[in-house]
Amino acid sequence: MQEGALWQAVLGEIELSISRGNFVTWFKNTRLLRSKDGLVVIGVPNIFIKNQLERKFNDLVVEILAKNGLKPERVEYKIHSDMSAQSKNSEGAVLRNPVYARPAQTQKRVIASVTHSYRQGLNERYTFENFVVGAGNELAYAACQAIAENPGKKYNPLFVYGGVGIGKTHLIQAVGNAITARKPSGKVVYASTEQFVQEFVDSLRFKKSTDFAAYYRSTDVLIVDDVHFLEGKEKIQEEFFHTFNALHQANKQIIMSSDKPPKDIPTLEERLRSRFAWGMTIDMQNPDFETRCAILQAKASSQNVVLQHEVAELLAMRVQSNIRELEGVLNQVLAFCEMRDIEPGIEVVTSLFESNKMRPKHISARQIVERTAKHFHITVEDVVGPKRDKDIVVPRQVAMYILRSELHMSFPKIARELGRKDHTTAIHSVEKIEKELSYNGEISQHISELRGRLYV
Ligand code: ADP
Ligand code: MG
Repeated sequence: MQEGALWQAVLGEIELSISRGNFVTWFKNTRLLRSKDGLVVIGVPNIFIKNQLERKFNDLVVEILAKNGLKPERVEYKIHSDMSAQSKNSEGAVLRNPVYARPAQTQKRVIASVTHSYRQGLNERYTFENFVVGAGNELAYAACQAIAENPGKKYNPLFVYGGVGIGKTHLIQAVGNAITARKPSGKVVYASTEQFVQEFVDSLRFKKSTDFAAYYRSTDVLIVDDVHFLEGKEKIQEEFFHTFNALHQANKQIIMSSDKPPKDIPTLEERLRSRFAWGMTIDMQNPDFETRCAILQAKASSQNVVLQHEVAELLAMRVQSNIRELEGVLNQVLAFCEMRDIEPGIEVVTSLFESNKMRPKHISARQIVERTAKHFHITVEDVVGPKRDKDIVVPRQVAMYILRSELHMSFPKIARELGRKDHTTAIHSVEKIEKELSYNGEISQHISELRGRLYV
């Protein structure tokens, strides 16, 4: 058989044994360069594909070569300049493959997000500018804007509540970011309730409770997310109450979010009842259809994709539960189309829904850790264990990054999930991967691949 024909036969079988997306991504531009003296050389267009084929698909290639009568002692993957020139001509650029387009696009965002210190808990990704206002959130938005302009004066404390994924964190973080932008010297602290609790517990354990109190009581703006987690924790509620009083008396702004109204967290309400009367409690609702469409357009355009109206409408109609899910489904659609280099048109999206692939899916932290381990061919025990070898540390950092970017988990929670004691480890890891994404092609590759597979 001619080498060309032989390789086509091999490719045909490979195509049947892996997903179409993987096939197109990894095998599309390969060819058989040489098959002689126990050595098979496969030409590949670039280093990413070479690494990936060596690491993940070599066994499969060897197996299928054997089925086609070739049993080489060695298989090599070689970057073949002809092929990159050819794909350059035909596709505009060697790395035009959309799988690789992502790092370049995320670059700007990533660099922006590391300029801000995570130590104060703020994530620059959440701004008023990229928050879409509509029925359901306009009141909360207006209150937050008023606070950003005049912290400590109006609506103090502000208590926003509502179901998961409807934008509470986004909005209260946006206040913090806006205040910090206007007055960088001010001390704005955002803490998840879990972080607050964890730090409090640590401060007791290490006998540093005065440091803890001093830290929180010296803020100009204190934002505490998800205070429903204080429920049933009497001791920490007490501490929260003291912090709260100290700040309130000094006219410092306090913002809280919760998934339920204050009256459903009885012990907290009892303590803070008189204070709530001074402030404002706002219920955030699920956004309406128009707002959901607008959010989809905004999210797509932040990824440099223009979404057709009918596609946005279809998605907004199908996913009504909350915005995180809406965002998740949009990302699934975009990842699906990106992998296959097709436009997210109405036919494609409709058929995705029909084939039932597009049900919003929930992925747990544990599943993310498992999939990351599997992707890197190590065990979950390695990821959550004490080993410090590079081929374990990097996957561990990637797992932390994905937990943060996909599930928006707090750093203490990420640390706990990965078996780390200290949440600063999680902060450093996430920052490191974010920085690397802007220049390390291999890491970007791993992450887009992992992301592409999370929800399928
Ligand atoms: P919650 O804290 O209420 O669970 P989040 O603030 O984490 O929800 O929001 C979930 C996701 O939806 C985030 O990625 C957030 O940026 C996005 N989101 C929520 N509301 C809006 C909105 N009005 N405009 C743009 N994005 C939004
Ligand atoms: Mg939240």
